[in-house]
Amino acid sequence: MSNDIEVTMQEDRLFEPTFEFIEQAHIKSKGQYDAMYMESIRSPEKFWGDIAEDFTWKKKWDQVINWDDAPVAKWFDGAELNITENCLDRHLETERRTKKALIWEGEPGDTLELTYEQLHDRVCRAAAMLREQGVKKGDRVTIYLPMVPELMISVLACARIGAIHSVIFGGFSSGAILDRVKDAESAVVITADGGWRRGKTLGLKKIVDDAINQTDIVKTCIVVQRAEVDHEMKSGRDIYWNDIYPAEGTAFEAETMKSQDPLFLLYTSGSTGKPKGVQHSTAGYMVGTHTTTKYIFDMKDSDVYWCTADVGWITGHSYLVYGPLLNGATIVMYEGAPNFPDFDRFWDVIEKHKVTIFYTAPTAIRAFMKWGNEHVEKHDISSLRLLGTVGEPINPEAWMWYHEKIGASRCPIVDTWWQTETGAIMITPLPGVTSTRPGCATTPFFGVDAAIVDEKGNEVPDGKGGLLVIRKPWPSMLTNIWGDLDRFKEVYWSRFAEQGYYLAGDGAVKDKNGYITILGRIDDVINVSGHRLSTMELESCLVAHPSVAEAAVVGFEHDLKGEGIAAYVIVNNGFTQSEDDKVILKKFIAGEIGAFARPDQIHFADALPKTRSGKIMRRVLKEIAAGRDIEGDLSTIEDIAALKKLAASAKV
Ligand code: ATP
Ligand code: MG
Repeated sequence: MSNDIEVTMQEDRLFEPTFEFIEQAHIKSKGQYDAMYMESIRSPEKFWGDIAEDFTWKKKWDQVINWDDAPVAKWFDGAELNITENCLDRHLETERRTKKALIWEGEPGDTLELTYEQLHDRVCRAAAMLREQGVKKGDRVTIYLPMVPELMISVLACARIGAIHSVIFGGFSSGAILDRVKDAESAVVITADGGWRRGKTLGLKKIVDDAINQTDIVKTCIVVQRAEVDHEMKSGRDIYWNDIYPAEGTAFEAETMKSQDPLFLLYTSGSTGKPKGVQHSTAGYMVGTHTTTKYIFDMKDSDVYWCTADVGWITGHSYLVYGPLLNGATIVMYEGAPNFPDFDRFWDVIEKHKVTIFYTAPTAIRAFMKWGNEHVEKHDISSLRLLGTVGEPINPEAWMWYHEKIGASRCPIVDTWWQTETGAIMITPLPGVTSTRPGCATTPFFGVDAAIVDEKGNEVPDGKGGLLVIRKPWPSMLTNIWGDLDRFKEVYWSRFAEQGYYLAGDGAVKDKNGYITILGRIDDVINVSGHRLSTMELESCLVAHPSVAEAAVVGFEHDLKGEGIAAYVIVNNGFTQSEDDKVILKKFIAGEIGAFARPDQIHFADALPKTRSGKIMRRVLKEIAAGRDIEGDLSTIEDIAALKKLAASAKV
């Protein structure tokens, strides 16, 4: 029997970039993209080697890509560098010295602006501080901070001295921190007394204490004083940032790093299981994040760029810190919630700072839609020229709203597919080139040899769903799972070991024009009476119904059909949640897709279990639908109370 994923969604709307956009874009035509793409695949050595010439190296490479130890890639093998010299020092010799690097806004409304020169100075001082605390090249430093400037500064200070940073999103539980500190054997933790979220303070130091008091691995805990939250300080271990941060600037010399030296560890969101300590190295990551930022966000010196992701996620690493700094961009960083003090906070930030490029997640876009257009309409957001999304497939409904209400039907939208593991964006429109289609990530970026294959690794015909694989190494690829080379090989490379393909774990389909649509995770495919359906498509269909704000669909064991379909639905304000409404929604899906796609269960919910990066944890919903107790690692779940309520109501 075929294992293809059945593709049911029909989406033919196409949106071309405007003439105004094309005229000023870095890449202006399909022909130009095709030529560059072709070269990047045929002669990666030349393509990436030429790009890498523009960076500051302490020593140039012997080889652009050494794949001898596959699947461990050695990009720019033999080179020596420090990434912070490329993020900061390099710009100081140009007009960017006095350009704003960071525009930071705290949730209570406090602000800080730093030029490239000032950011460089702060990073050097923080590097000196860490060195003074005994941190050496190769040591792991755990960073658990709110979205304050010290977060960006700490990350860069680690990179400056060659320490490996492991940033943990400042919303994780102490259990999650303890796991990660132990796994990384991190002797130093940087945290804060607390941070601001929805007008309240969150006591971070207390959460850290609950973790690190249980281990003697952590010898030093540096505490930023942010929110005046009560906390304890353990003598001999805990120390205030302000007490050790040098008052005077020092030109702290950047450590010499080999191209392969690990730059950071980042534990994945854990949507599908136990988080993995994804390891990225220095040179390839630098070249990859720089190049993707430049072309995908069409980054110019005149731009004000805002990525709403927390630095605790890969998006924050690559597109809030490294990628934009490598391009000398002006970065907006915001500490708090999108709905504080009111639902228009994001649009207020955009208006105030004249943001030109805005990058956020589908889950946020669906929330904005639910809150209503009036919050957007209060503000002049006409400075925007480019929009992006990342994290999940974006349903066409949300895409269209983003396009019309935020992008004024004028801004290109880049729907960027990538992963913690890929380090940088892999499949995406190019904003001056690609005609975009709602819900479609479109085409591979330079150097990305993406294919959609069947179980045997053979390419499936256009229009058929299959497994998304990457057939060639790319610069920003992960180099290991921390301390576990076997798991690294097993998880990503064992399925197609013979061919040497990277298994992304997502399903996808390509159309005859080469456009790739991501269908969600392979593990989430539901097999109903022999029809293999993507949860993403079923969810997109449900959300297209006027009463539905958000939906999650999972399969559960079913005697007759193999698997049945369970849908969890959040309704829009003003709609009822009756048994009749359930029937209406079931009929709606059956009508749109086919009778076989009619859900067996509809559950109305107040909230869905999500990771803190906003992804639906379908594995948890599967347990509920099957009537089982929820097991496994829940450390990354955002709202445990909502989950418990859902589980209780489903049992009734
Ligand atoms: P874990 O690997 O621990 O389960 P995770 O996969 O959620 O966690 P991330 O690396 O943050 O952790 O997420 C990458 C995944 O997010 C991709 O594999 C894909 O499923 C989804 N994704 C990201 N961007 C997009 C996009 N633009 N379109 C569709 N899916 C996307
Ligand atoms: Mg993943």
